[in-house]
Amino acid sequence: MNPEYSFFDAVCKSFDKAAKYTQFDEGILEQIKQCNSVLRMHFPVKIGEKVEVIKAYRVQHSHHKLPCKGGIRFSDMVNLDEVMALSALMTYKCAIVNVPFGGAKGGISIDPKKYSAYDLERITRRYTSELIKKKFIGPGEDVPAPDYGTGEREMSWILDTYIAMHPGEVEALGCVTGKPVTQGGVKGRREATGLGVFFGIREVCNNKDVMDRLGLSTGIKGKKVIVQGLGNVGYHSAKFFQEGGAIIVGLAEYEGSIYCETGLDVEAVFQHRKKTGSILNFPGATNFAKNTDALEAPCDILIPAALENVINDTNANKIQAKIVGEAANGPLTPDADEILTQKGILVVPDMYLNAGGVTVSYFEWLKNLSHVSYGRLERRFMENQNANIVSQIETMTGNKVTDEQRKLLVHGPDEIDLVRSGLEDTMIKATNEILECWKNNPSIPDMRTAAFVVAINKVGNSYLELGIFP
Ligand code: GLU
Repeated sequence: MNPEYSFFDAVCKSFDKAAKYTQFDEGILEQIKQCNSVLRMHFPVKIGEKVEVIKAYRVQHSHHKLPCKGGIRFSDMVNLDEVMALSALMTYKCAIVNVPFGGAKGGISIDPKKYSAYDLERITRRYTSELIKKKFIGPGEDVPAPDYGTGEREMSWILDTYIAMHPGEVEALGCVTGKPVTQGGVKGRREATGLGVFFGIREVCNNKDVMDRLGLSTGIKGKKVIVQGLGNVGYHSAKFFQEGGAIIVGLAEYEGSIYCETGLDVEAVFQHRKKTGSILNFPGATNFAKNTDALEAPCDILIPAALENVINDTNANKIQAKIVGEAANGPLTPDADEILTQKGILVVPDMYLNAGGVTVSYFEWLKNLSHVSYGRLERRFMENQNANIVSQIETMTGNKVTDEQRKLLVHGPDEIDLVRSGLEDTMIKATNEILECWKNNPSIPDMRTAAFVVAINKVGNSYLELGIFP
């Protein structure tokens, strides 16, 4: 791959391609495209007997809506260009799914596997202090979340550091999302990105025009799916696809990949990997030597759910899937993107398809600001109402429902129900908005460009409404 390759330039290139289909003048387009604020830091942390200088970043791509929002990744591959690109994708992602935030992203350039939990905690807390010092964190300013290499544990360290330095701030819980449920998190956040990927692809598969073009039947049932990466996003996506009736024919991880024509049970593979330390040698499945081999195997839907650039000019020509769903951020290089489009493969773009995480983060933030969990006020009321309706119907018809049916009919919505249906609605609306935009403008070459057009229109209009430009 080209060592000069810039991820941020690639995002800008996609932006420029789409900008041609919008009506904004150059100044507004330039303002949307650039990163508004960049914080680069070096801070010392004592690891054992030695002082280590840690390199870290937080980039706020857009202030057109506040707070800014986006995850924090821990990886030794983190660099400024990557954080800028990912923060830009967050702006477009939030706009597409109508989450009223500007985009941001953070990163610490470390391999978390090389540090103890104790050291990671001190690095995370020090990073948070740096963000506080520069006002790059706060419920109304900038709200981090998990990303590659981070999770609930890191978010609770961030929260605790923030609270300690903001005593009495009533909205402090909203300074970070993706927290454990016991620390102000929301139920359903952990699996949100994977579930969003499933809802998004399911909606694409329900669209007859699109499926006819690809030579596929509508619906998710029976579709052959390969998922690359069994981390939080990949694992949950694969599980929801399987539950939705798809056949998981391939799974890939660092150490290799496996394939089974008749379908793999995702949970069983996950447990096998936990037990043996490897995805390979799963009973009934064929081993592939390389982890990337699964990407090239036959299937209907390919879900790259790990890191960026896994599909590039070395393997794009060998992809056999009809649909590639970008669960990861930036899994395709621009070259690969063009090759796939030329081959007639539908690429469902990252910045909308993996928006489930930030959508549910938005629900978590709202919960934190309102200080009440979803369903708390209405759940019991709804159950009583439903119970009354059921008993009225029983009296009128003289028939009794079974206990099982009663449970189903009476059930009042609790937090997980409301979060999931909110996410489902969001992903369905976003998918249809993008497909509609594409259909209304047939010269738009691909779905990524259509998604960018939708995003640019929303961010651009919001700048115009702000009245910044005469
Ligand atoms: N890191 C996730 C993303 O890239 C989630 C961001 C968030 O919840 O703010 O979309």
